[in-house]
Amino acid sequence: MKISELLKQDKVTLSFEVFPPKTSSSYESVARATQEIAALRPDFMSVTYGAGGGTSEHTVNIAADLRKKYDVTVLTHLTCVSSTREHVAKMVQKYKENGIENILALRGDIPEGGAPHSDYHYAAELVRDIKSQGDFCIGGACYPEGHVEAANKTEDILHLKEKVEAGCEFLTTQMFFDNNIMYNFLYRIREKGITVPVIAGIMPVTNVNQIKRITSMSGTYLPERFKAIVDRFGDNPAAMKQAGVIYATEQIIDLIANGVNHIHVYSMNKPEIAAGIQASLSEILG
Ligand code: FAD
Repeated sequence: MKISELLKQDKVTLSFEVFPPKTSSSYESVARATQEIAALRPDFMSVTYGAGGGTSEHTVNIAADLRKKYDVTVLTHLTCVSSTREHVAKMVQKYKENGIENILALRGDIPEGGAPHSDYHYAAELVRDIKSQGDFCIGGACYPEGHVEAANKTEDILHLKEKVEAGCEFLTTQMFFDNNIMYNFLYRIREKGITVPVIAGIMPVTNVNQIKRITSMSGTYLPERFKAIVDRFGDNPAAMKQAGVIYATEQIIDLIANGVNHIHVYSMNKPEIAAGIQASLSEILG
């Protein structure tokens, strides 16, 4: 099913993300986690793509299994930084051969020292290329706190609009821990005429190292209420995991209560986290 069709329905959607293994030796454990998450019957699952394409075979295989073996709608990511147009065309063809209808078109992070062999500068160029190669539903990334490279949020939103005009039918947000940031972002993009559905990306933070990584990489704002949880439970992995799942669930309930109907959980290949969130929302999801 095309995700654009799914998002048109008048219902709350819950989706989960998996990422491919970095080495073939860990493929089996990721495949098992994927199967367990698929058994929860989410509205769709996304499979990330290693920037530079190093793990692209795994992305294709996991996505193909989701669709063919587990009958789950799949959103397959594709990045273009450091890629040639030939390589992108080859990947799009592989997605097509595996019946993949939904692609999240991303630029990817620019490697240190630049991306000298890249035919692409921005994700919008990839969106146009994919669109010219078949009948895909294409999504893009967006950043409620602004993308790290953007001079300011206004410019970032103008570039986002160009990406949508290039052919993005929906957007998925970068993680955020304060819903007011999302509400403000939605107001600002709607004001600028971006009308496509926006899926809220929620990251359940379940260990302290994860938080350190997040804040150092993306500078995501951590509210005091969230920091207090980390201070109190950070040394106790089981308690931190429980608190992280509850914090994410509360965020999701508030989002749905305020009309944000589409939720994507960065479930980090952890079926128990996906299951915990889904169980707490059973009545809300209907
Ligand atoms: P773009 O939309 O190209 O934007 C990048 C920057 O360029 C922004 O600052 C934007 O304002 C600016 N810009 C855009 N157009 C122009 C223009 N014409 N002129 C000047 N500036 C411009 N990374 C992976 O490697 N693999 C994944 O699977 C992956 N999945 C992701 C999923 C989501 C939901 C999100 C939010 C991010 C994901 N990322 C992934 C990370 C992403 O690749 C990086 O954040 C990357 O730095 C930006 O990608 P983008 O597609 O948003 O880029």
